[in-house]
Amino acid sequence: MNILVINCGSSSLKFQLIDAQTEQMIAKGLCERIGIEGSQIVYQPAGGTKEETVTPMPDHTKAIELVLEALTNEKTGVVKSLEEIGAVGHRIVHGGEKFAASTIITDEVIEAIKACNDLAPLHNPANLIGIDACRKLMPKTPMVGVFDTAFHQTMPKEAYLYGLPYEYYEKYQVRRYGFHGTSHSYVSKRAADLLGKKYEDMKIIVCHLGNGASISAVENGKCVDTSMGLTPLEGLIMGTRSGDIDPSIVEYIAQKENKSIEEVMTVLNKKSGVLGLSDNLSSDFRDLEKSYNAGEDRGLRTIRAFSYRVMKYVGAYAAVMNGVDAICFTAGVGENNPLVRDLVCEHLGYLGITLDKEKNDTRGEELEISTPDSKVKVMVIPTNEELAIARETFALVQ
Ligand code: AMP
Repeated sequence: MNILVINCGSSSLKFQLIDAQTEQMIAKGLCERIGIEGSQIVYQPAGGTKEETVTPMPDHTKAIELVLEALTNEKTGVVKSLEEIGAVGHRIVHGGEKFAASTIITDEVIEAIKACNDLAPLHNPANLIGIDACRKLMPKTPMVGVFDTAFHQTMPKEAYLYGLPYEYYEKYQVRRYGFHGTSHSYVSKRAADLLGKKYEDMKIIVCHLGNGASISAVENGKCVDTSMGLTPLEGLIMGTRSGDIDPSIVEYIAQKENKSIEEVMTVLNKKSGVLGLSDNLSSDFRDLEKSYNAGEDRGLRTIRAFSYRVMKYVGAYAAVMNGVDAICFTAGVGENNPLVRDLVCEHLGYLGITLDKEKNDTRGEELEISTPDSKVKVMVIPTNEELAIARETFALVQ
């Protein structure tokens, strides 16, 4: 069965068609600037050439129409008709406490997702627009919602509660939810498989280090803690997000810079992280690494502060699980940046971690990078959120 995976943002839409039996990607692409002038669709069949077409996309329905046309047209299409698409898997950012697992999308499910909109006002409405557009164009095809938050719903209360008046949790569901769940789940399972161990018997720490970054502690196959919180702003220093800060900073900066709370929140979300720390040099680690290697303070301080925060969380999560068997690095930086991995592991010798410096000097490969005698295994595992969504979808519609 072919599964169409849709990841719909407010003005963009990523898609992949995946054969659920062979788990091979058949075609993939991206619609950009939906609803904005200059929109374009990028489409690439597996093994074929990438096509970029600038064409008007006033809304998401038009974007999905173009995706389906690209997948089925006679010249570059990969299927003969829409009937060859057995199901659609939608990435949904926030499932609140309602969704601890993926689910078949029904009218009731859509209402329940809408009820979580306040928790992710930038993401959930866009995800729902994608679902609506697909349902219009493929009314008979089953759809599945796969939630970024679902994998973390196994966290115990002591891990997800904040030290706030309890009524805020009861009235407004203010608590830690965590994100990147499909990635944490995929990578931790893959680690157990690669090590030939039972997932249910392992203590694994997953470091998902990309433009957005989060860490999770996975004990006996269940997430027991994760670094992102009510929103994806908490935890690690990210591309442009601050991660953990003293909450008083919000008021302090608002006063000093004469900004509203909304304006300070925009700074924390869009102008902070490694971009802000490097004095706007870049949010991209390739640029930061060049600066680090040139011995510039902005590159040095930024990469050191980023890696230090990761190292602190790894130590904390080893404590949470009373031990750790494997540490996995994934996503853009985790997969491609030996320097960050080296700096993170530098202070973890006491846990029984020894990095093989030569093996660590690789980019984008699935690989064990600890020495054979390292008590804790350190691994690079490229994440594949689309495949994880396709698997979940297939399991539910089969
Ligand atoms: P992501 O959000 O997972 O796409 O990760 C984005 C981050 O990964 C950026 O900071 C990139 O610099 C980094 N990244 C992606 N690919 C590479 C690569 N081939 N080499 C070094 N860094 C990379």
